[in-house]
Amino acid sequence: MKIRQNLHIHSLHSCDSACATINDIQKEMLACGMTEFGLSDHFHTRYNLCDIQSAANDFRSWSRPPEFHFGIEITCVAKWECDAIRTGNYEAIGDDPVYALRFNLPPEGADFSPYLDIDEATLKQCGIEYTIGGVHWPLKTTYTLEEALDDLFRQMMFLAENPLIDILAHPWYPLEVAHNWADSHGFPGHPKSEKSVTDYSVFAKIPDWMNEKLGEALVKNGTCAEINSGDLNSPACPSEYRDIRWRQLAQWREMGVTFTFGTDQHAAHSNRADIAASELLLDLYGFKEDDFAYGFPKKRR
Ligand SMILES: [Zn+2]
Ligand SMILES: [Zn+2]
Repeated sequence: MKIRQNLHIHSLHSCDSACATINDIQKEMLACGMTEFGLSDHFHTRYNLCDIQSAANDFRSWSRPPEFHFGIEITCVAKWECDAIRTGNYEAIGDDPVYALRFNLPPEGADFSPYLDIDEATLKQCGIEYTIGGVHWPLKTTYTLEEALDDLFRQMMFLAENPLIDILAHPWYPLEVAHNWADSHGFPGHPKSEKSVTDYSVFAKIPDWMNEKLGEALVKNGTCAEINSGDLNSPACPSEYRDIRWRQLAQWREMGVTFTFGTDQHAAHSNRADIAASELLLDLYGFKEDDFAYGFPKKRR
């Protein structure tokens, strides 16, 4: 199938390494034949709101075609992180708030409930047309696969059921590193590991009941699941585990889940080979145009 939608693109306004200009995004997406594409810069907590406002100002000032939209990628965070950032308390625990506060040990009695540090009024004020909700880290430090599965599953269920979220980003990312998060980041009393901690074989160990329950929640709440080519087509992932991930998405399709497509571009320019490879993979796993929310996911609006 021909991909005509790319709702997951980061611009140079994103708080991370993303560096594409709005001009290049527009030119390249129209040249690829996209009929629906959009910006989706990162928002972890209110500390990043200035980045979204900056992207919104740039977007609004631009002479753009109707195919170009304005979205946001909202990270699921823990309530305690938002509470600390709201009070300006983040310096007290010695961390940098750009990526919320989890890269350090949480305070005594911290509330680990999944949380979004944004509301409907802020989304409206920024002119946001659609939201992508993403899990980017475990909420708690994880040492085992069981802990990582529980943590990521809990966050994805929260996003799938959340009325503010239209699309669940890159399902099951970042299980490949989350299962030994302590080794990959290092904490007081637990030094960072010197060997690589990325292990794609963990995707074969996701319990079927977890994937099914997530699929049910997506259907029930009208939340789309994302086919994220940047995540799924990573060249570092051995093909047997890539196959497992595509089959998990195909299982959701059979349950009635609707999808969106996104490249998760962070580079200055789009990767047409990645989009072409995704078209072949979508055919291989039986996806059709009807499985996608063309015309835009409109959960709340
Ligand atoms: Zn993401
Ligand atoms: Zn992203």
